Amino acid sequence: MGGVARNGDLKIFRAIGKGKASRADYLCGGITIMKNYDLIVIGSGPGGYVAAIRAAQLGLKTALVEKNASLGGTCLNVGCIPSKALLDSSENFHKAQHQFAEHGIDVANLQLDFPRMIARKQEVVDQTVAGIDYLMGKNNIDVLKGTGALVDANTVSVGDEKYRGDKILIATGSVVSDLPFAKPDGKRIITSTEALSLTKLPKSMVVIGGGVIGLELGSVYARLGTEVHVIEYQDSILPTMDRTLGKELGRSLKKLGIKLHLRHAVKSVAGTGRSVTVIADDKKGVEKTFKADYCLVAVGRKAFTGGLGLESVGVTLDERGRIPVNADLQTSVPNIYAIGDVVAGAMLAHKAEEEGVYAVEHMAGQKPHIDHNLIPGVVYTWPEVAAVGKTEEELKAEGVNYRAGSFPFKASGRARVSMDTDGLIKILVDAETDEMLGVHMVGARAADMIHEAVVAMTYRATAEDVSRMCHAHPTFSEAIKEAALAATGDRALHI
Ligand code: FAD
Ligand code: NAD
Repeated sequence: MGGVARNGDLKIFRAIGKGKASRADYLCGGITIMKNYDLIVIGSGPGGYVAAIRAAQLGLKTALVEKNASLGGTCLNVGCIPSKALLDSSENFHKAQHQFAEHGIDVANLQLDFPRMIARKQEVVDQTVAGIDYLMGKNNIDVLKGTGALVDANTVSVGDEKYRGDKILIATGSVVSDLPFAKPDGKRIITSTEALSLTKLPKSMVVIGGGVIGLELGSVYARLGTEVHVIEYQDSILPTMDRTLGKELGRSLKKLGIKLHLRHAVKSVAGTGRSVTVIADDKKGVEKTFKADYCLVAVGRKAFTGGLGLESVGVTLDERGRIPVNADLQTSVPNIYAIGDVVAGAMLAHKAEEEGVYAVEHMAGQKPHIDHNLIPGVVYTWPEVAAVGKTEEELKAEGVNYRAGSFPFKASGRARVSMDTDGLIKILVDAETDEMLGVHMVGARAADMIHEAVVAMTYRATAEDVSRMCHAHPTFSEAIKEAALAATGDRALHI
């Protein structure tokens, strides 16, 4: 495998592989031959670059195509990493302003250097992206810069060059969805990308969408002192998660000063050079006007396949513009796989990574495994929100006979120690077998704690199994044990 030309002229391809030749096409006895790969990955987000590394580990000669100047996709450049950098910085500022005095720490004359905060975020992004460059080099993965387009089932063009791949993996991700009456202009009507790189702290911001991005970035700005209004169409924030979570988080966000406007239908957004006006109807149909420095549109993302040339291979999209795949992540053309945000399922970096590894291992003849029900979802607000498995609403709709047990952080000594008493943990179990079916948390460090639930549910543990595992004291994780005790039969010890 790897580096073998169609006409068998190994010398030419070894030269190309060692970087001694600059063009991919070579004329050899009048025949144009292309550089060959076992796998060509299109898109270098967490799905694509992780897949490329796994392919290299399995001995596949791999190329990674990326149209952007830097590798890492949405997640590293304008998604997970920069948003978490700003969430951390703003949380430090907010704690210093509102909690330190209670701890006996005097930080009089606390100042916010907003440009420095944004600059640090960019440094974190640059270092993380540079890490991907290093990993590509270390794994001998050829990085091809430019837009990758399918020419046929085994050929990908990148600019003027063509490359042959035994297998092709599409990992082209997603882009922001907008509303017909709220087209981001990059100035006053913005998306998450601009919100991560503002140069001046806004006095006010209207966020359309009370989902993950709206609440994470809304939190960043509210913590720094911006007046934030979140307008949500549904009757709950985080409407796709277990409804307990949105209710519980809503209380904390209100304390932070975020104004939540549920069941509001936005009907117009107009930006001037200096401000923006958003008009929405509330649940009673009464018109409300919001004026702010910025309007952040955060109403979801959609699969991206522009310029990919899917029509050349006969792959058609589903009703939501996603690439249909089978259980092994193969498209209707078996040697072309697709993963991550461009296919159905949660739009999460770790979901894309798992699928990338799965697809490549399947190509290599292995029998990989992935359980989409056990992909955790996390919202990095404070308190954090994390969940895995079925929601209570799903269990009701499926007619499952379940039991719920929960434990509030206000009853946790560890939470009191750090003034993190907001939130709770709820565990849903099968009423007959006690098997854990869903775990839902709002609380400090929920993003890290959720993995105890993932492990337990992967091994199909019962709530009693988890309740009998010793949990160190004092920890936030003790709340999992207590919620498990509550779920397994009203046996929580500290409530
Ligand atoms: P992407 O990361 O979108 O990467 C696709 C890549 O393909 C891009 O680099 C694109 O330029 C490239 N590409 C597209 N077409 C072509 C082509 N024809 N040729 C060459 N290259 C092409 N998820 C989490 O799990 N945790 C988080 O904390 C989190 N935070 C987020 C915060 C924000 C603000 C946003 C916007 C998203 C966040 N996400 C988070 C979602 C996460 O970023 C995505 O789920 C993830 O990046 C999807 O990975 P992917 O590999 O499928 O695609
Ligand atoms: P989302 O789907 O999480 O939330 C969009 C929200 O907008 C929903 O609550 C929806 O009801 C609301 N909405 C839709 N149309 C509306 C309208 N006309 N008026 C008012 N509200 C409206 O989408 P997002 O927050 O844009 O995030 C996009 C994707 O990025 C998500 O799939 C998410 O998984 C991913 N992401 C993940 C993380 C994380 O894992 N922490 C962080 C950010 C983004």
